[in-house]
Amino acid sequence: MKRRDFLQLVGRAGGAGAVYQTMTAMGVLHRPLNEPLDLTGNGKGKKVLILGAGLAGMSAAYELRKLGYDCKILEARGRPGGRCHSIRRGTVETETDGATQTCNFDPGLYFNAGPMRVPADHLTTLNYCKEFDLALEAFLNVNENAYYHTADPKFQSLGGGKLRHREAKADMFGYTDELMAKATSEGALDKELSKDDRDALMQFFGSDGWLGPPIQPKTTDDLNKPRTGVYGPNMRRGFSVLPGGGDNPGKLSTPVDRHTLFQSKVFFGFGYEQYIDFQMTMLQLAGGTDRLAYAFSERLGKVITYSAPIQEIRNDGSGVRVVYKGAGGAAREEKADFCICTIPFSVLKSISNDFTAPAKAAIDKIGSQYAVTGKMGMQFKRRFWEEDDRIFGGVTLTDQAMTQIVYPSTGFQSKKGVLTGYYNYDQQAEEFAKLSPQDRIKRALAEGSKIHPQYDAEFESGISVAWHKTPYSLGGWANWSDEQRKNEYALLLKPQGATYFCGEHMSYVGSWMAGAFESSHETLKQLHARASSG
Ligand SMILES: Cc1cc2nc3c(=O)[nH]c(=O)nc-3n(C[C@H](O)[C@H](O)[C@H](O)COP(=O)(O)OP(=O)(O)OC[C@H]3O[C@@H](n4cnc5c(N)ncnc54)[C@H](O)[C@@H]3O)c2cc1C
Repeated sequence: MKRRDFLQLVGRAGGAGAVYQTMTAMGVLHRPLNEPLDLTGNGKGKKVLILGAGLAGMSAAYELRKLGYDCKILEARGRPGGRCHSIRRGTVETETDGATQTCNFDPGLYFNAGPMRVPADHLTTLNYCKEFDLALEAFLNVNENAYYHTADPKFQSLGGGKLRHREAKADMFGYTDELMAKATSEGALDKELSKDDRDALMQFFGSDGWLGPPIQPKTTDDLNKPRTGVYGPNMRRGFSVLPGGGDNPGKLSTPVDRHTLFQSKVFFGFGYEQYIDFQMTMLQLAGGTDRLAYAFSERLGKVITYSAPIQEIRNDGSGVRVVYKGAGGAAREEKADFCICTIPFSVLKSISNDFTAPAKAAIDKIGSQYAVTGKMGMQFKRRFWEEDDRIFGGVTLTDQAMTQIVYPSTGFQSKKGVLTGYYNYDQQAEEFAKLSPQDRIKRALAEGSKIHPQYDAEFESGISVAWHKTPYSLGGWANWSDEQRKNEYALLLKPQGATYFCGEHMSYVGSWMAGAFESSHETLKQLHARASSG
């Protein structure tokens, strides 16, 4: 029987839903890759010790308990979530050098010190949000009204060194398309392309670059005038005087001159929003990303023991034995059939264990190259970025060490707001991290006020997190080279005795919450198969 006839039969019997399911099963339709975990069988009578109550550890316990496993999580911190951490009034942050800050934001305001956005493809993250009935909002990763900024003194005549994303993109693409159209019409691509393809490409340059005579539109027809191959004011770039009622058609803004534009290198940030994981639509958890962590911890209750830092991990016969610091500082011991260790390698490398020498060396190597990254939440008494600059969400990128400002994607037009005053990496993050928390604020204000002069007058309070100086994280996320994926990664994907390594670091979705979930699910498949066979 032909496939089409078979599907018609299924359709007659079961309707459109049955056809869809059958087509999916036949591989005719694309199936999303990371689907909810679907393990069957029974784990009753088996005990699993989970080290760390981050998203990887808690999702592991949550799923294992569905199968009847006896689970216990030991967590060093006094809260769940690990890096999935949102800061609110009263949150205390203490760094490895003892520097301590207490958040002073107004009640109701918060700052996502770790994860803030969820790509639409991260189905494991979205599936858990759905399972726990957590509300999602759009995270506006792209906003054409936000700025690209340079602090280079040579370009301060360029609107104080800043251009709106739309202006920078319109001008860069416009001038580039104009040059390409010129070169193409002068025969530069005659050898490469047929006449038909050149004609098609010329049309593309015209629409991509908004090429045309520099017109001031008076009617809709003006906007649709034929394009002549010249870049000028246009409806992509926008207005210097907004159109209004009566006889005000508005005034289109004037492009920056080509030489200044090219030299300003304002295009440095164009790639940011094109990266697959940063493309819109992105989502965020309403009320703070840590809602997801607390949704797990509320369901797990007493399964989690807090303030219980692991000090030693030993394979013990066919199982595992773990030593941790219990209440009052006394060493305590816990035994189990299996262990899922979600402690980041940056921390695990200093914990006593009896893993093989190659495994220890691999953990040490990867644990020593975690991302250096930092973020600051800043509360302002007025949402000047909305009121004065008409920026509702999105990201301003700058060539200063602060790297970026992330505007809140929620609470529009309310009185106060918290924005991400900096979010930086590597050398730039180190520059901020080595300062005292107060000096970080001073620097964030100094750099930020070059973009928004309102900063000094409107600032109320700020709090920063240097992730590589944060106990029990000691870094933002694991970095792997391709070579290390082949060697160290492959080695650590296998358990050491009864101990499995799990977490964002053991995934190809590193630095994302989805990495923690994907790794957790892969670990559970392995562990459950082994437990079921023994
Ligand atoms: C700055 C930043 C921005 C990010 N942005 C995003 C984003 O926008 N979107 C996104 O999806 N993801 C983002 N991520 C990534 C995401 O936060 C992580 O991938 C994910 O939370 C990792 O979860 P995990 O369970 O693997 O690790 P962790 O959250 O680190 O959990 C490990 C747990 O182990 C505990 N632990 C450590 N040492 C010990 C010990 N000795 N004894 C007992 N317990 C211990 C820790 O306290 C922690 O609770 C971001 C991360 C950072 C740092």
